[in-house]
Amino acid sequence: MRRVLLLVAALSALAGAAATSSADDRRSLPRLVVQITVDQLRGDLVGRDLDRMGEGGFRYLLDKGVVYLDAHHAHANTETIVGHATLATGAHPSAHGMIGNVWFDRRLNRLTYNIEDPDYPILTAGAGVDKNGEIDPTQRLAKTDGRSPRAIMTSTFSDEMAIRYGERSKIFAVSVKDRGAVSMGGHAGKAFWFSKKAGEFITSKFYYDVYPEWVTEWNAKRLPFAYAGKSWELLLDKASYRNAGRDDMPYETKLPGFGRVFPHPYGASDGKLFTTLLTTSPAGDELTVDFAKALIEAEKLGQDEVPDYLSVSLSSTDYVGHLFGPSSLETEDQILRLDRQIADLLGFIDERVGIDKTLIVLSADHGAADPPGYLNELGINASYINPKDWDTAPGLARIKERFGIGKELISSYFHPYIYLDTEAIEKAGQSKADVERAVADEVMKLPGVALALSSSALASGAYPEMPIIRSVLNNFNPSRSGDVFVVFEPHSFTNDFDGLTVTAHHGSPWNYDTFVPMIFAGQGIEPRSVSRRVETVDLATTLAVLLGTKPPSGSAGKPLVEVIDEAGR
Ligand SMILES: [Zn+2]
Repeated sequence: MRRVLLLVAALSALAGAAATSSADDRRSLPRLVVQITVDQLRGDLVGRDLDRMGEGGFRYLLDKGVVYLDAHHAHANTETIVGHATLATGAHPSAHGMIGNVWFDRRLNRLTYNIEDPDYPILTAGAGVDKNGEIDPTQRLAKTDGRSPRAIMTSTFSDEMAIRYGERSKIFAVSVKDRGAVSMGGHAGKAFWFSKKAGEFITSKFYYDVYPEWVTEWNAKRLPFAYAGKSWELLLDKASYRNAGRDDMPYETKLPGFGRVFPHPYGASDGKLFTTLLTTSPAGDELTVDFAKALIEAEKLGQDEVPDYLSVSLSSTDYVGHLFGPSSLETEDQILRLDRQIADLLGFIDERVGIDKTLIVLSADHGAADPPGYLNELGINASYINPKDWDTAPGLARIKERFGIGKELISSYFHPYIYLDTEAIEKAGQSKADVERAVADEVMKLPGVALALSSSALASGAYPEMPIIRSVLNNFNPSRSGDVFVVFEPHSFTNDFDGLTVTAHHGSPWNYDTFVPMIFAGQGIEPRSVSRRVETVDLATTLAVLLGTKPPSGSAGKPLVEVIDEAGR
C-alpha cells in the first residue's frame, strides 16, 4: 500500500513539474507564509481611507485577496496577547491560556505578565522594560526581563509548520511588542522585539545564546536614533484629511514634548521618552518593517521548496489609537502610512521570493473603542469608568453579613477578572459558587457595569446561551481566569491605567473591540469578499489546511471554505 502511495506521489510530482496550469500552481505549496497582524486595526479602518491609499498595500490585499467583511474575535477580553495567541493557535483563550495581558497567579499570589519567564532572560543585559518611558503598564507588572512562549498552552500554526516540515522550515516573528512576536513565533520559532530602553531589537535565551550576526549589524546601524530632532508630520496635504479640522481635541493624550497636534516632535535621542515616542508614531512600524526585510534577506526566507513562516506584528496603530483615538487625525495619518509600509514589505517579498509564491494573511489582535469625548459629540452615551471611585463598602458589608467573610475575600481585581480568596471561603465554611454569585450580583449594582458573571455558574452552564456569555466562556481557563468576569457598559472603559491616562482603549466583548479585518492573499488565492460572520480562530485552522499541517492542538476554528476551495486543496 505504501509503495502504491509513493508511486502516485511520484507521478503527481512529475505531472506537477510538467504542468503550468493555474490549478497546479494553486495546488503547490507557498515558499513563504507571511502573517501580518496590525495591533488595534479595527475592521473598518482598512477601507475607510482607500481613496488616498497607494498601490501594493491595502489596495492589493483588498483587490486580490479573500476579504472577510465581518470577522470577530470570539473571546471577551480583547487584549493584545489574547488576540495574538488566538490568531496564532486557532484556539480560544480557554485552551491556549492567554486570558489577559496580566492575570493573578494564585500559586505565586501576585499578578503576572503573560510571557514573563525568569528562566530565559533577554540577551542584552539592561534592555528590559523601561519603567520610566514605558507607556504599556501591563508590561511594567512583570517581575523579570525574561520572556518565553512557555505559558502558551497549545501549539501554534507556526509550531505545526515546524513539525510538518522539520528543520529546513524557518520560522520567525518580529514586532515592537514582545508579546506580539513571542506569541506568533510559537514554541518552535524565533522571536525578536524592540527594546525601548536600548533602542534595539532583542530576543531572549529561549531562542538564542548569542545574536545572529545580522541582528548585531542591524542594531549597530542605530536606525532608531536617526529620528532624533525630527517630527512625525502628515504624509499628505492636510486639507485632504477627513479629520483635518480635528487635530486639537481636548480628550487627546498630551505626552510631554510630543503634544496633541502635528507635527509631533521626537526630541533629542537622550530624551526620557525618545524611543517610546518612536513607537507611538509610524516610526515604530517603519523600524519593524526594516528589521523584517533584513531578516528575510539574512535568513534566506522563501528561497527553497520547503515553506517558511514570517510573522510581522505592527504595533504603532495601537499606541497611536490609545493616545489619540481611532477617529483622530493621527490615526488617519497612521493608517495611510501603515498602507505604505505594508506595500514596502510586500514589494520587497515580491522581489526576493515572488508574491505568487507567498501566502499572505492579515488580521488584527483586537479593535478599539472611540473616546467618550468623541462619541458624546455624536450623542452616543459613553464615559470613562474608574473602579477606584466605586463605593464598594455597602456591597462588601452585605457579603460579610451573609457569608461571614470581610474585605479579605477579594484577592485581586485586575480588570476584567475578580479573584476571590478560596481559603477564606473554605475557612468560613461557605460554598464558593454561592459566594461568587453574590459578589457578581453586588458588582452588577455598581455604576458602568453591564454584566458580572460568576465563573462557577459559567462552567456549570447556568447562564443562557448568548454571544456575549459565550465569549466570556471562551475566555475562561480554569487555572488562570478569575472568579467573576466584569463587563462594562458599551462605550465605557477605564482610562486611568495604573497611573497612566490614555484617551481610548479596548478589551471589551462589544463589537468595536472584537471586529477585525481578515484577509488572505497571494499564492492560490482568488479574489472575493465574504460577508458571513467568521471568527479569528478560523484563521490558523485555515492555514493548517492550506499548508497540510495537522491542526494546532487546541484549535477550535473551521477551515474557511472560500480560501480552501479556491486554492484547490
Ligand atoms: Zn493590541
